[in-house]
Amino acid sequence: MDRQIGDMLNSETIIEEDLQNVRDFENVIMKTKTYAGHEREIIDILAEDLESSENLEEYVSRKPEDFDPKELLDHNFHAYKYTRGQLIDWIMIIFDQLELTSEVYQDKLRDFLVNICNAYRRVPYHHFTHAFSLTNAAYWILKNIGGPSNEDGMYKFFSKDDILGIILGCIGHDVNHPGMNNAYLIKTKDNLFELCSKYTDDDCMTTDSDDSMSSHVLEGLGTDNKNSVLENMHLKIMMRYMDILPKDKAESVSQAIAEGILCTDMSKHGALVEKLKTIGDKFRENDSYTPTQEERTFLAAMIVHACDLSGLILDYDHSFKWGMRIAQEFHDQYSAEEKLDHEKYGPPMSFLKYSGVKAFKKSQAGFCENIILPMWQVLFDILQFDKVVIDSIQENQKLLLEGSA
Ligand SMILES: [Zn+2]
Repeated sequence: MDRQIGDMLNSETIIEEDLQNVRDFENVIMKTKTYAGHEREIIDILAEDLESSENLEEYVSRKPEDFDPKELLDHNFHAYKYTRGQLIDWIMIIFDQLELTSEVYQDKLRDFLVNICNAYRRVPYHHFTHAFSLTNAAYWILKNIGGPSNEDGMYKFFSKDDILGIILGCIGHDVNHPGMNNAYLIKTKDNLFELCSKYTDDDCMTTDSDDSMSSHVLEGLGTDNKNSVLENMHLKIMMRYMDILPKDKAESVSQAIAEGILCTDMSKHGALVEKLKTIGDKFRENDSYTPTQEERTFLAAMIVHACDLSGLILDYDHSFKWGMRIAQEFHDQYSAEEKLDHEKYGPPMSFLKYSGVKAFKKSQAGFCENIILPMWQVLFDILQFDKVVIDSIQENQKLLLEGSA
């Protein structure tokens, strides 16, 4: 395929026929403006990576009938090499492999996926390929619970409705993400109505309206989702498409989706991991411990949150590609904050600024040590999936530290 990087400019809303030609990993080179309306300053190392783009011929020409479901069981699956349309084909395979296709209205499934995919913006990081990566990581965990040869280990913990909620939660968890975080959206409130009104009827600021959903998991931790501007928006958009669920499933699966999406707010991470550790202790004391229903609901939501932080379970090169994209998105926000009135809005958040590759590696190594490894290690203690991902996090931490010296 003869396609130049930067071809698909100025196209925030992608029509269905284009999905086969859109690869999210190329979009950051686009000279389109950021959400705040500024020209994007592209991080040098990312621009080089895009310009030396790999030969993707063999991926572009692959047809869904040639996709082997076993490929998804590689925790290092190269999602970024596929187009949005191909990733939808892969999700159809995930539904099939988890025997979820018959749990939804089958004739509506592909249209649902296309609609959700189209509602993902082409920002540097929080795009549809990121959503796919979560979905695939969750699939990988589910298929490996109790060990790689234990195909049905997932049913020890989860019902079919839980599993469907996990997968749908992953697919929709960042839909319409503008590439700016909650703090930015809250302080520049003017943007919110425009951001949310495209898909919902209100400004998503709080969950005070009657039709909003709450999270039992967060309530159990003594917190709520009132300031989770983005997560409330993602959830509300997802709920518009729940006509794929048969009536008898709608309530329980919708609640499972809400738990997963609302628990992806990073401000809840500390409380979530503390709770996870208390469940982990029970499994360490008694490896045949049977979790309560409340604990199962929590673990299902925790899988979505952990998979949202799964970039560092990948092999180093693969993980670094994702890391550069989040760095770009943070830097976009930093640039936008620099241009705000600092007296009115306060100074820009300095951690968002990209300050060269060594500083990036240092902060990623710290993120590995303090956030990623403690959470994934406890999740592994409980669910006993393949340890390869824990080894991978440790290896990444080591290489990042070496690279930051
Ligand atoms: Zn995410």
